[in-house]
Amino acid sequence: MTDTPALYVPRLAVIGCGLIGGSFALALRAAGLVGEVVGHSASPRTLEKALALGAIDRAAESSAAAVAGAHLVLVSVPVSATESVLRAVRDGLEPEAMLMDVGSTKRDVVDAARRVLRDRLRNFVPAHPIAGKEMAGISHADARLFQGRPAILTPIAQTDPGLLRGAEAIWSALGAQVRQMSPENHDATFAAVSHLPHLLAFAYFNAMLGQPAGQDYLPMGGSGFRDFTRIAASDPQVWRDILSTNREEVLKQCLRFRHALDAFEHVIRGGNLEALEGLIRVASEGRSHWQPLGGKTAGR
Ligand code: NAP
Repeated sequence: MTDTPALYVPRLAVIGCGLIGGSFALALRAAGLVGEVVGHSASPRTLEKALALGAIDRAAESSAAAVAGAHLVLVSVPVSATESVLRAVRDGLEPEAMLMDVGSTKRDVVDAARRVLRDRLRNFVPAHPIAGKEMAGISHADARLFQGRPAILTPIAQTDPGLLRGAEAIWSALGAQVRQMSPENHDATFAAVSHLPHLLAFAYFNAMLGQPAGQDYLPMGGSGFRDFTRIAASDPQVWRDILSTNREEVLKQCLRFRHALDAFEHVIRGGNLEALEGLIRVASEGRSHWQPLGGKTAGR
């Protein structure tokens, strides 16, 4: 498995059978690239749904039980649960198994892996598919979720090169555009293009709800309001984890945003229409030339 990318996965273990874990299993199955899928999740109800949807073939009672005999282990739990899952699966991992996470932040995940995986660190391929929805949970799983979307791999020095090539081949086979980044660059990049926009959408919506006439204003929202606030409906636990684990980079982006907002307030307060138009023009032209990787707008 270390020399050639092993595309076919005789047994996949999915730890965390939600939106991303379920979508990955369905996508591998749709591509004919998996034999058996064993799943473990925090709640039995999720496992029942995953079985009913055909995302998994068998439910395991624990993470450790799920990984026995698995060639690929996908850890698709909220990032705050990653360390305990890695600790739970470490000793049961097959020697040549690929252990891949999908967490939206990477520095904390890599730090957790370094703390707990020890000699199994070579099996670990940190990944982040830039695909998703604001609705979490297995009910929203979709076999086509990764098609045309970026998949970022953030390997570390210990990551086995053959397993890394295997991970690239698997994401490519699911239709993703694979890119490599350092965990640090990943977290700085996604604080700017994903984490801050989510935080702003949450804060904006809270500001609406917190004002006396907010409930009267809300039904009047049009397409701009719909586009801008879509991501405010995202899952609270997943986003609590992302914003808190990538705290430093998120706070740096907050500061940059605050300066930009200050600039707008300043010219509006001063009645400087030329400067106001100039600020809007910079944004408008920048947005018109925006080219997303993979040609589609990205998820988180
Ligand atoms: P999700 O739909 O809520 O799925 C997470 C699943 O993990 C749930 O089914 C949950 O439990 C299960 N779980 C939680 N703690 C667990 C534990 N200790 N052991 C086993 N299972 C556990 O969330 P998601 O959107 O798929 O997110 C999963 C990961 O993907 C996160 O790290 C997130 O940052 C990342 N990600 C998300 C997106 C996105 O747009 N959604 C995009 C890229 C990456 P139950 O069994 O109770 O349901």
